[in-house]
Amino acid sequence: MSLVLRIDVDKSYGRATFIQKVASKIAESYWLPSIESLGYLHDLKAFLLFLSEEDIKAHIYFRICSLPPQSWIEGNILEGHKLGLHAEDTRNIDTFKNELDDARKHLNPMNISSFTKHGSGNWKSGRNHYPPYEPDKYLHWAEELEIPFLFGNKEDINEPSASYGEYKHFPGAFWIDRPYTDYSALQQVVNQAKEDDVVVLIHCADFLAIEQVEKGMRQLVSMARQQNVSWITH
Ligand SMILES: [Zn+2]
Repeated sequence: MSLVLRIDVDKSYGRATFIQKVASKIAESYWLPSIESLGYLHDLKAFLLFLSEEDIKAHIYFRICSLPPQSWIEGNILEGHKLGLHAEDTRNIDTFKNELDDARKHLNPMNISSFTKHGSGNWKSGRNHYPPYEPDKYLHWAEELEIPFLFGNKEDINEPSASYGEYKHFPGAFWIDRPYTDYSALQQVVNQAKEDDVVVLIHCADFLAIEQVEKGMRQLVSMARQQNVSWITH
């Protein structure tokens, strides 16, 4: 069995400096153009570079305010990765479908293979964000709209994945950007990935902004390699 990497692109301008935090906040609350020279998605780019050096493919989830620029869609930076929608306006199936349609239009001809939910119900983040986290509802939508709700937001890797219709759902993940990420927690993740597929969740902004997250990620990658545990996508 294997490790599965999920990347949530929450902050379009990153969060390593005060200016980046402000720019990301403006982008999610109002609107900011996606200008690469001003640092748009620079943190995802840095993280993807690290992944390409390690030959790891991931599931990347974009919010409407953090969609990749046109040059990425035409280029090869996202090649081999699976793209998804990080849904915000989940009030009902229609608001969700509107977001999905917008994301599809933007990413065309690239494919959206699944979706996840932004936020776990505790706070509102951005103008279009509907905070409640309602996984059962999303599982129904997945079948109705024929797009898998692949990963849930629980901070738990012990709950097994479940099949529904022709799709799979992983209710929880190991959140690598949490203070409990120490050597023994990482070893536990690798051990479990020898038995089962285990999802690792990272917010790519934290890879640049928080030293411990970068260290933890690098350490997990090297432990997995030493112990012959591979990374896959679903
Ligand atoms: Zn998010």
